[in-house]
Amino acid sequence: MAKEIRTIGVMTSGGDAPGMNAAIRAVARACAYYNVKCIGFYRGYQGMIEGDYCVMNARSVRNIISQGGTILKSARSEDFRTPEGRKKAATHLTEAGVDAMVLIGGDGTFRGGQIFSQEYEIPVIGVPGTIDNDIAGTNFTIGYDTALNTVIDAIDKIRDTASSHNRLFFIEVMGRDAGFIALNSGVGAGAEEILIPEEDLGLDRLLESLKRSKRSGKSSSIVVVSEGDKIGKNVYQLADYVTENLPDYDVRVTVLGHMQRGGSPSCFDRTLASRLCVKAVELLLDGEKNVMVGLINNKVATTSFDDGLSGTHEINKELLRISDILST
Ligand code: ATP
Repeated sequence: MAKEIRTIGVMTSGGDAPGMNAAIRAVARACAYYNVKCIGFYRGYQGMIEGDYCVMNARSVRNIISQGGTILKSARSEDFRTPEGRKKAATHLTEAGVDAMVLIGGDGTFRGGQIFSQEYEIPVIGVPGTIDNDIAGTNFTIGYDTALNTVIDAIDKIRDTASSHNRLFFIEVMGRDAGFIALNSGVGAGAEEILIPEEDLGLDRLLESLKRSKRSGKSSSIVVVSEGDKIGKNVYQLADYVTENLPDYDVRVTVLGHMQRGGSPSCFDRTLASRLCVKAVELLLDGEKNVMVGLINNKVATTSFDDGLSGTHEINKELLRISDILST
């Protein structure tokens, strides 16, 4: 029979994402609702290793639903990749009386959780929190919608200055291995071209498309570039290449960088975080373990870590076609 769950721990790990606070709040409040003690670990796995934690009650999480970042801080922990590090974490969890953990983070966080749960009898549930939206087992990750809106807002502003000066802007957005942010913000902001890691469109096509834009009388052009674009050049090299080959263009580069992680979470991310984390607590209380929760077709669903980590969340390539048609 599964051990009774009296104390649930929660942490945020990997890259921070807007909505992580809403997720922490939902775990703490669901624990209070079900009369379970809640402990928050600071700095992800590193806080578990160091025994750095605080007891959380329903009031500890007041007014955080609207705040960006994470009150529990986030970190990447090299120590947790070692058996010794994980042993220290397990020891501290046992000392603190933690019966189960809710892990909020990206695929790396889930991988760590999967290994930990194979080594120790401490049930864990993963909640997808990352702006990249690159996790199988959910249509949306917490933070992605807010990041998209931040990017759109920035591109709209750049468009104003681009069209005032007839300029071409290359705008780099986050996404080393996944083009979700670039693709969706690119369509949403009416970009002339979108370069993503999943598709190598090639330099010739880029030049052709920009020539076509010029011929059609456009007063500005925006190319959204994912960090991990496969064309083989970084955003500055791309800008240089276009300047050399299309000297009529006045080319500029903007790297949006870490601003994409910040800001108050959107209503969508707050609601998503709330739904997924209440479910995570309820699953643990029902004896479920070693799965991730996600939103699939607007229903909260569970996926094993094995399936979640081996699967890929495919981008919607149809959006490239839509972008092509609409950038005419
Ligand atoms: P993001 O998608 O925002 O980068 P993430 O959760 O994927 O978030 P990672 O840095 O990849 O971020 O992983 C977070 C932490 O999970 C790592 O710092 C490490 O402590 C732990 N982790 C990742 N992979 C493993 C692994 N194979 N074994 C043990 N721990 C791991």
